[in-house]
Amino acid sequence: LSPPPRRPIRELPDELISQIAAGEVVERPASVVRELVDNALDAGATQVTLRLLAGGVRLVCVEDDGCGIARAELPVALKRHATSKIASLGDLESVGTMGFRGEALAAIASVSELSLLSRTAEESSAYLLDARSGELRPAARSVGTTVEVKELFFSTPARRKFLKTDSTELAHCVEAVRRHALARPEVGFAIWHEGRLVEQWRATPRWEQRLADVLGADFLEASVAVDWRAGPLRVWGRAGLPDAARARGDQQWTWVNGRYVRDKVLAHAARSAYEDVLHGQRQPVYALSLEIDPAQVDVNVHPTKIEVRFRDGRAVHQVVRHAIENALAAPRAGQAPQSQQ
Ligand code: ADP
Ligand code: MG
Repeated sequence: LSPPPRRPIRELPDELISQIAAGEVVERPASVVRELVDNALDAGATQVTLRLLAGGVRLVCVEDDGCGIARAELPVALKRHATSKIASLGDLESVGTMGFRGEALAAIASVSELSLLSRTAEESSAYLLDARSGELRPAARSVGTTVEVKELFFSTPARRKFLKTDSTELAHCVEAVRRHALARPEVGFAIWHEGRLVEQWRATPRWEQRLADVLGADFLEASVAVDWRAGPLRVWGRAGLPDAARARGDQQWTWVNGRYVRDKVLAHAARSAYEDVLHGQRQPVYALSLEIDPAQVDVNVHPTKIEVRFRDGRAVHQVVRHAIENALAAPRAGQAPQSQQ
């Protein structure tokens, strides 16, 4: 067997670098939704409106009333590794925003037709930037930003083939917004699909109200409040009563410092808390937020930031487990009917 011929090493063109990087961040329309809503929240939006066509494949449009992007910075926002959210490695230790990698807009723009329409309070006009042509011109808009993402994966048919039906993609998009909406009750959300309003969650100061609006009154009724502090750690939210357990683990929501995450430590801690009250394969339901010193958690583990790493996983596990156990043992839970199967 002869070795493969030696080939020269070349630097890839920028466009291709972005398209390769996009593979990590943009898997489907819901990934675009997640990134754009992250940006809207980081910009201080109080209302976020989504307009989707064909499950988000033909169009994901996210409109916010946040701080906007200055005219001069619109082209910069589309560059790779360009961000207003961190400036040094030190900032990364205490990152309080959803974004910080400066990748999303560049990545999305490399696999779609993206435009940015934005206006800041300081400027008397809005500006529209078309990513493909680079054309930048005055336009009309109140303070805030509208990002339009059209024809996702139009230039990468291999990716496009992996997309599911419009209704499945839409469901993923709605799920992505739910994760944000549950963490940010003070922000109003609306989702339109093909001109129809599919979800609307009005801003409310009460987290329980948002929970009922998003997950249904049943979730609230079949759960108990969790609120537990241990030093700088706080765990709060709702833990479902054993009776509310389901066959599927599709109602297990966790956030770390307001960011939706899927984490083994948290999931295992929750499962252990239900060990003595849940039998068989049934999955508990819960919606729990962990507040922790940002220096104690690494959010830069995965490009999508859905995974985190805790500096002291054992401490987090213990606190989450105790928080749930304690809530389930509280009088209100005791009065509720317990299932004995
Ligand atoms: P990151 O969010 O990691 O900084 P992005 O590529 O998502 O990277 O966005 C790049 C920059 O564009 C952001 O840092 C922010 O300054 C600006 N930006 C993006 N979306 C918005 C928005 N909706 N409102 C205001 N600024 C935005
Ligand atoms: Mg971002």
